[in-house]
Amino acid sequence: MQGEGPSLGRRAGFVRLGGCNLHCTWCDTPYTWNAARHNLRAELTRTAVAEIVPRVLRGNPELVVITGGEPLLHQRQPGWTSLLSALTAAGVEVEVETNGTLAPTSGTTAAVTRFNVSPKLAHAGDPEAARIRPAALQSLLSTGKAGFKFVCATADDVAEVSRIAGRLGIPPTAVWVMPEGTTAGRVTARLPVLAEAAIAAGFNLTTRLHVHVWGDERAR
Ligand code: SF4
Repeated sequence: MQGEGPSLGRRAGFVRLGGCNLHCTWCDTPYTWNAARHNLRAELTRTAVAEIVPRVLRGNPELVVITGGEPLLHQRQPGWTSLLSALTAAGVEVEVETNGTLAPTSGTTAAVTRFNVSPKLAHAGDPEAARIRPAALQSLLSTGKAGFKFVCATADDVAEVSRIAGRLGIPPTAVWVMPEGTTAGRVTARLPVLAEAAIAAGFNLTTRLHVHVWGDERAR
């Protein structure tokens, strides 16, 4: 189930790719990139597209989400093109989740139904020059396929979102505010404050539905 953003609640298959070009302090998938905390040789396995596709389509989802890590790091690999082609041929919608630091290629843009772009705020701990890449964000915005999902903890974070969106010309209707947290209690506790701030700013609000249902369980 897609637990976040514009497709919240929809049945979905997920493909999680390894590697990331950011190092967010609160990252909920450090096993995709953090070699200091995880054995990446065990976590990251090379898997043939021909094996991935039937697995991800098991259960007949109408939506497949490609996530990470940062999946657009792989978009110039032959396997990326093969994967997108196979999913397109299967007739499913494809969402790519990205941190917004890399511009999509024309091939990626053509094959993808939606980009769920999640630029990182200051509290993520990455340097601003690394986490906010205006050219990449403008490129994603110009596809007409992007929703911008910001992980927030406080009303001040929502104000930071307003400044970033205003500077880059991202319309408020294309912004989703989402609570940071990997437990249902933490996500729930943050929603009231974020809801008020999001409504006042003209943004959309999303919870993390999978966290409410399954907590921090992997492969959910
Ligand atoms: S961009 Fe996403 S995957 Fe990468 S470190 Fe940040 S939260 Fe984790």
